[in-house]
Amino acid sequence: MLDFHQQEQEILDFWQEKKIFDKLRKQIKSGKRWSFLDGPITANNPMGVHHAWGRTYKDLFQRFKAMQGFNQRFQNGFDCQGLWVEREEEKSLGLKNKKDIEKFGILKFVQACRKRVEKFSKVQEQQSIKLGMWMDWDNSYYTMSDSNQLHNWMLFKEYHKNGWLYKGKDAVPWCPRCGTASSKHDIATEGYREVTHPALFMRFPVKGKFNEYFLIFTTTPWTVPANVAIAVNSHLDYVKVRQESGVYWLAESRLQELNGKYTTLEKKKGKELEGLKYEMPYKDFESQEKSPHEVVLWDFASGEEGTGIVHIAPGCGAEDFDLGKRKGFPAISPLDDAGIYADGFGKFSNKKYSEVNQLVLEDMKERRFIYKIEPYEHRYPHCWRCSEELVFRLVDEWYIKHKEIKNKLIAENKKVKWYPEYGKIRQEDWFNNMGDWLISRKRYWGLPLPIWECECGEIEVIGSLKELKEKAIDKKKVDALPEIHRPWIDEIKIRCKKCGKPVSRIPDVGDAWLDAGIVSLSTLGAGYLEDRKEWEKWFPADLISENMPGQFRGWFNALFWASTAIVGRAPFKAVFGYESLKDEKGEEMHKSKGNTIWFDDAVEKVGADPMRLLYCLQDPSQELKFGFHVLKEPQNYINILYNMSKLVEQGTKKNAGNIEDKWILSRLNSTIKKATEELENLHPHLASRPLLEFWLNDLSRGYIQIVRDRISEDDSAVKFVLNESYLTLLKLCAPFMPFITEKAWQDLRKSKIVKEESVHLCSWPKANQKAINQKLEDDFKNVFEIIEIGLASRSDSGIGLKWPLAKATIYYFKKFDKKLEGIIARQLNVKKIEWKIAHEKDWKVILDTKMTKELEAEGFAREIARKVQDLRKNAGLVKQDRIELLIVTDIYLREHEKFLKERTNSSKLEILHGIGEKIKEKFDHTKKESIKGKIIRILFNKSR
Ligand SMILES: [Zn+2]
Ligand SMILES: [Zn+2]
Repeated sequence: MLDFHQQEQEILDFWQEKKIFDKLRKQIKSGKRWSFLDGPITANNPMGVHHAWGRTYKDLFQRFKAMQGFNQRFQNGFDCQGLWVEREEEKSLGLKNKKDIEKFGILKFVQACRKRVEKFSKVQEQQSIKLGMWMDWDNSYYTMSDSNQLHNWMLFKEYHKNGWLYKGKDAVPWCPRCGTASSKHDIATEGYREVTHPALFMRFPVKGKFNEYFLIFTTTPWTVPANVAIAVNSHLDYVKVRQESGVYWLAESRLQELNGKYTTLEKKKGKELEGLKYEMPYKDFESQEKSPHEVVLWDFASGEEGTGIVHIAPGCGAEDFDLGKRKGFPAISPLDDAGIYADGFGKFSNKKYSEVNQLVLEDMKERRFIYKIEPYEHRYPHCWRCSEELVFRLVDEWYIKHKEIKNKLIAENKKVKWYPEYGKIRQEDWFNNMGDWLISRKRYWGLPLPIWECECGEIEVIGSLKELKEKAIDKKKVDALPEIHRPWIDEIKIRCKKCGKPVSRIPDVGDAWLDAGIVSLSTLGAGYLEDRKEWEKWFPADLISENMPGQFRGWFNALFWASTAIVGRAPFKAVFGYESLKDEKGEEMHKSKGNTIWFDDAVEKVGADPMRLLYCLQDPSQELKFGFHVLKEPQNYINILYNMSKLVEQGTKKNAGNIEDKWILSRLNSTIKKATEELENLHPHLASRPLLEFWLNDLSRGYIQIVRDRISEDDSAVKFVLNESYLTLLKLCAPFMPFITEKAWQDLRKSKIVKEESVHLCSWPKANQKAINQKLEDDFKNVFEIIEIGLASRSDSGIGLKWPLAKATIYYFKKFDKKLEGIIARQLNVKKIEWKIAHEKDWKVILDTKMTKELEAEGFAREIARKVQDLRKNAGLVKQDRIELLIVTDIYLREHEKFLKERTNSSKLEILHGIGEKIKEKFDHTKKESIKGKIIRILFNKSR
């Protein structure tokens, strides 16, 4: 078994020392351009094995295109800003919330975030190198760069010009710990979790009736003080029932929620309840002055949950807010940005919402506003960065309008090639349903939104530093900006063109997806703003490749928006996506579960190539189960690939002789064709599987077994065919497994079998269509099927393969080229083959297992020859060395003397019968062997 890690380190040193990557880049510089756009990796932590999966694909496609001679940029990207970086840095600094950050100082905090990114981008770079990833590491892009920020400013200016940027009030999902809104993008996929909350069945008295109540359902008690109305569905049936404790209204379909017996008194459609007033427990709060506290009609009220009567708090829920806006209800939003109740809510004021949850429960219980409380399991949104439960707050945030750009996005998406294909539909679904994009975040380390908003309502959106300087009150401050980040940018005020007052920038930063979304403009060439001509050469990208589930709403979405807004088209021609990585049991990897595998551990234990092969063989549309057991198989495959290199010699003869030679060369060319087509079609798994099939089955288990004797006989056609097949195979495998292919190549280079300095400087092989013979390949498929059945039948009979048998009878059911029967006979070690028509659609092989003296003697001869070959090897002899051989045995071997002499390369062979005879001559090498219970003594000297 290879020591993968050790050997890979040596190859890395070799690449570095010989500057192989630089040489490759020079070699392809004049080639046609192929533009790959790297999706930036968040430089926040060391890499995980899931990152390595994605990075393997990126490296694979780029290496493949490089071998085809395409000029490329090889630019790696680091994602640097946003809540996830802030969150990790907060943890490192021991800061718990925004108050802590502001006490610590925004300046110091932002600098700490930058340091973090600088540190982990270096770590990830080193890890990627260990994975074998070839990138222009000195030229990586960073989304925190001024250039990236300014390209986004240009984009904002464009949005503003189009009238798509607006400030809107809405009840949005909010993380009280992070103190910022979460967009729909953030929570769409990973934000929801299954949790159990206490479900409240509240009883609110019907105004003017004695002991008559509406039964109302909610799972968020803290929102009850903000209740302004209750809603029923106009088409649903509601019933009034009498119970011991009172008379209740609820949906007829929800009667099972009642405790104990009841009598139905009355039935009404929801619409008949409209306008009825009710009493609620907190109507005396100052904030409740304008609430109607009446029944309204709402289509979202459902007969499938709760009581069919819904609690409405427009300041605490997005749908509630929409309904309230239409009805003109007040939106009471009791929480501040840290989730603390505001003044004007009695004893709940100045308490955290989670505490208020408990207080409201107790208070309403005491005041008999509660019918029952039950645990309730449901999917609830959580902060996708810190896991805190989200609440809804009424806030002013900045949005980009979705309606105007939607159709263009969908049309552009239709032109893009997707693999897997379902990605295209999912992306379109997202574009159809995403709604306006909430792009502001009340945070620190991010894109400073270029919006200067005056008290008078005037809004300026600044599109460049030049424009900022023109409008700035203190222009020197613009020149002195060390970077385009908070807090420096917050210092710059402009003059309101309407009222003349000095105006500050809004303190918000941008959704971090904007940072990665702009890179098709900011990073190709020198960037859209800096050198349009050079940028155009690389735009649009030919390919992007990223983990799929997260990116429909994330990177893919953001790329589409930016490029469609500025250039009017999609920024890439093709997307390759892949699913998620799980552990061996199919469970998510989590630090807390202890099943996470770190990249460094994996690469040191297993090696990069086996990981890469595992990744490449995986169907990207399926989840990958990753683990150390799973990695054993690719390790074995690679060992087999490498070990074959020892059989390769200088191949001089330029033509294939036997039929098996023609067959393996046909297979080789079919494999080149298939691997090339599948890589072009973005199917790495369908490209790597035939390669594996070729080296494992066709070459190692097939051809090499068939020509074993010819190898011993130094057959020059075999040498040529093996040489041709193996060297081509190495080139085909090079982009998948860059280390082992290089290792084998360098071994062969030392033996002067290859000339090129590195396998990675070779061209991608081209298939020779003329060498492909499909009929022959099909015939050989039959041959191998028959051999397999024959071998199984042999092993059932208990007679080892080394003992020749007289005959095999093969029952055949499809046409078979009998020219190939010699191969079958040799592989099954039988003297003769007899063909009979089968009655069923299956090959059948019957062996004649009768042993004769002659057959046995032949078996012994072969076995003895093999033992002598081993002994020669152990004695340090090379192929050309001749020996003088003495065999002492009572087996009759006269007829096989010639064979033995040739096989063992003996200049002299003597066979003595019997055992224990005195041998006068002195031999350097002697060994007593036992074959099938017979003792055989082998003695030899190297010929002088
Ligand atoms: Zn959070
Ligand atoms: Zn103004």
